[in-house]
Amino acid sequence: MNIVTATRTPADWQARAAALSIRTEAFIDGRYRPAVEGRSFENVNPATGAKIADIAACTTADVDLAVIAARRSFESGVWSRCDPAERRRVLVRLADLILVHAEELALLETLDMGKLLRDSAMLDIPGSAEVFRWYGEACDKLNGEVVRAGEGAFALIDHEPVGVIGAVVPWNFPLKMAAWKCAPALAAGNSVILKPAEQSPLTALRLAELAAEAGVPDGVFNVLPGFGHEAGQAIGLHAGIDCVAFTGSTEIGKRFLSYAGASNMKRIWLECGGKSANLVFPEAKDLDRAATFAVQGIFFNQGEVCSATSRLFVHRDIAEDFIARVLAKVDAYRPGDPLDAASGMGAMVSEEHTARVMDYIAIGREGATLACGGERVLAETGGCFIAPTVFTGVDPASRLAREEVFGPVLAISTFADEAEVVRLANDSVYGLGASVWTNDLAQAHRVARTLHVGSVSVNTVDAVDVRTPFGGVKQSGSGRDLSLHAFDKYTDLKTTWISL
Ligand code: NAD
Ligand code: MN
Repeated sequence: MNIVTATRTPADWQARAAALSIRTEAFIDGRYRPAVEGRSFENVNPATGAKIADIAACTTADVDLAVIAARRSFESGVWSRCDPAERRRVLVRLADLILVHAEELALLETLDMGKLLRDSAMLDIPGSAEVFRWYGEACDKLNGEVVRAGEGAFALIDHEPVGVIGAVVPWNFPLKMAAWKCAPALAAGNSVILKPAEQSPLTALRLAELAAEAGVPDGVFNVLPGFGHEAGQAIGLHAGIDCVAFTGSTEIGKRFLSYAGASNMKRIWLECGGKSANLVFPEAKDLDRAATFAVQGIFFNQGEVCSATSRLFVHRDIAEDFIARVLAKVDAYRPGDPLDAASGMGAMVSEEHTARVMDYIAIGREGATLACGGERVLAETGGCFIAPTVFTGVDPASRLAREEVFGPVLAISTFADEAEVVRLANDSVYGLGASVWTNDLAQAHRVARTLHVGSVSVNTVDAVDVRTPFGGVKQSGSGRDLSLHAFDKYTDLKTTWISL
């Protein structure tokens, strides 16, 4: 399924958007229902400021209902103990359904959180389908181990689903983050309660229905929209939830650890913030390609990417040339209507977040040199747009260099030698990703080994693939999304010792 966004005008897309039917209620035990307390919240299109719909604001009462349904379905074995080949068929069917409805889902995603429709259509939606397909296919290919213990005994080591999983996800890749958590959790046989971010609930709500259509039994997959301090906190504190997988800020990640400690010691897996460094050495042969990726690494998705390469360290001998190349490529990310194929970047997710990013730009203006951007633009649209912004001469000790901005703001610093730049890159509370540009093989491995992060990309930026683990060290989190290793989060090991 390939949507050629360029073949339709923004007006065509707007007409299609107006014809969408929007799911606004929670999905619990196989059906949509209003929030128990009857409250709702406004969902806004950040590219226009226009209201899209009123969405059910779930609270503890809804989480209670969802946990009852999830627990009942889990204990019944209808999903948790069925033949894994059946789970495979259902999840592969869900992947197919996501592709059948790709245009609708892409449009929902873009209207909801402002990213380019081109990216929703080409990356987010097909990427989410791919993750459901990949974990679906994996369902019936995983077996346990047998331990030989001499003549009189052997043992089985098997993986069992954990039970009821809470998935609390952010707004930057709404459907994709839901897929990263829910696909392996469901594939392993768990029942799931998904809480999308309040800024971007639409695709998750639609996914619930598609999952039911694919054959996911009632109660196995529930979606509860709502605020973090209400629905999110209730999930964190609920004693009937066995595990929470979270992606979002480090601040809220830490809260989930407290929720677990204050309730049932549920296991908590965190994918939190980052301040990923991009190291450009003079040994890199293709500096133009490096510059292209340096720009993509910070301006893709409006910089609203946890693994964005927001810190660029360039060797002083090549700094002048390299920075000129970077600045020459910024114009390709000029923001505009996310529905317009000619736009280079979409809208920021919300007014609140836009203000946050603008505060960081103000901080940058105080200590560093503004090389381009720095302004909020397209005020006439009523939307949240920030020009791609580059600061040079950034002090690695400054707030701009140390704190996660989560916006289209690149901080460039220079370095003198390998030891210095590795020290600077590692001098962070975060440890999500890093990029290294060099054609010296030994240097690439030497530096990759010493970077204290979850993923190193060599001669590219932010390499993410369903086959390889994604996640961080230090305050970037714990556990890994993607790859077969994600199953570790959603399964328990069961030992059965057999004495003959
Ligand atoms: P957030 O951490 O507040 O939100 C992420 C998810 O957690 C959402 O579903 C939210 O509803 C929920 N949540 C919020 N408060 C909660 C609470 N008290 N208890 C339980 N759940 C709660 O992120 P945000 O406010 O949307 O963004 C703030 C900053 O977080 C961003 O500027 C960025 O730095 C970072 N962020 C990181 C990622 C990432 O992918 N690592 C994603 C989004 C935001
Ligand atoms: Mn929205």
